Amino acid sequence: MSLESPAKKDIYGQYHLKKVINASGRMTILGVSTPRPEVVETVSQGLNEYFEIKDLIDKTGQYIARLLNVENALVVSCASAGIAQAVAGLIVKDDRDLLFNLHSSTKNVPREIIVAKGHNVNFGAPIGTMVALGGGVVVEAGYANECYADHIASLINVNTAAILYVKSHHCVQKSMLSVAQAAAVAQKYQIPLIVDAAAEEDLVTYYQQGADIVIYSGAKAIEGPTSGLAIGRHQAIEWLKRQSEGIGRPMKVGKEGILGLTRAIELYINDPKHETGQQMVSKMQPFIEKLNALNGISAKVVWDSAGRDIARAEIAFDAKVIGKTAIEMVDLMKQGDIAVYFRQYKANEGKVDADVRSVTSAQLDTIYHKIKNIIQGVE
Ligand SMILES: *Cc1c(COP(=O)(O)O)cnc(C)c1O
Repeated sequence: MSLESPAKKDIYGQYHLKKVINASGRMTILGVSTPRPEVVETVSQGLNEYFEIKDLIDKTGQYIARLLNVENALVVSCASAGIAQAVAGLIVKDDRDLLFNLHSSTKNVPREIIVAKGHNVNFGAPIGTMVALGGGVVVEAGYANECYADHIASLINVNTAAILYVKSHHCVQKSMLSVAQAAAVAQKYQIPLIVDAAAEEDLVTYYQQGADIVIYSGAKAIEGPTSGLAIGRHQAIEWLKRQSEGIGRPMKVGKEGILGLTRAIELYINDPKHETGQQMVSKMQPFIEKLNALNGISAKVVWDSAGRDIARAEIAFDAKVIGKTAIEMVDLMKQGDIAVYFRQYKANEGKVDADVRSVTSAQLDTIYHKIKNIIQGVE
């Protein structure tokens, strides 16, 4: 987070970079997460050695598969790359001509990817863009506020290549079929199911519920280096792997990413350092109390909308009292010497969430003082 050690180069100074307090969670736009020292060490070791890369990919994949008790696994460059290559793999399968000419080929193969309308989200880039990159065509199922198994089943036809389920807080949660229900439809019609579980914490449940490919982002919950993880059924992952000779090449993951993520997964499973939601609550309690003492501000604990064990401080700004809307506050908090980033999804409702997973108690104090100064007109 901070580079206090004098032995280290001052990156912030050298490039005139702004310091950041990341109270927004595992955000790509801020650098996602900070891997633990063992992972950094493994990344460095990886960079300093040579390997037969195919061997490295296969053996680390087998190792991860054993750890997670799944048929097959593969480290990819990021979750988005995993989605695109999963789609491509399920369209191309073993066809070499399609592998090399995914987008230009006029060969008549199934390309439709069924996605619940409420799952067709923008996670920082649109899900549909990743599907298109993988040579697929999104077919939306259901409505903006509802999608059940029947909506998906009714769209399955000879051109269906896969069902894509996006398990994420970005998605509509209400009136939405579960992963298990999507898997039941997929199995009934013999269609593969891809689950985008990029930011999820559970590395086994979606596979166990019947997904053929499950994709995770390496630097989010797992806190690995920039990378992604694809786990699933043996053949589906092998098809995904083959994309390294096709659209996968510009998404190549390096040896350091492969080794670093494998180590991060090992630690994540065997030695979880996991800050629990309850510990997050304890950390932010003094912060919340101080905020509540400010006129026009109310703060409280809220739990993750996607059901993960993450507690956050929801801070509501009363624009009539403080003279600034939450949207203006979000912007002002990013100004000055230290930029503070909140989760701003609810700013239009007058609220922001502070995610404290990457924030120390001292930084919470800095955030408090910044808010206080802004509303009292000091900044
Ligand atoms: C973060 C995220 C992604 C993309 O993950 P990357 O590893 O950054 O490519 C995809 N889908 C969802 C739901 C996400 O939250």
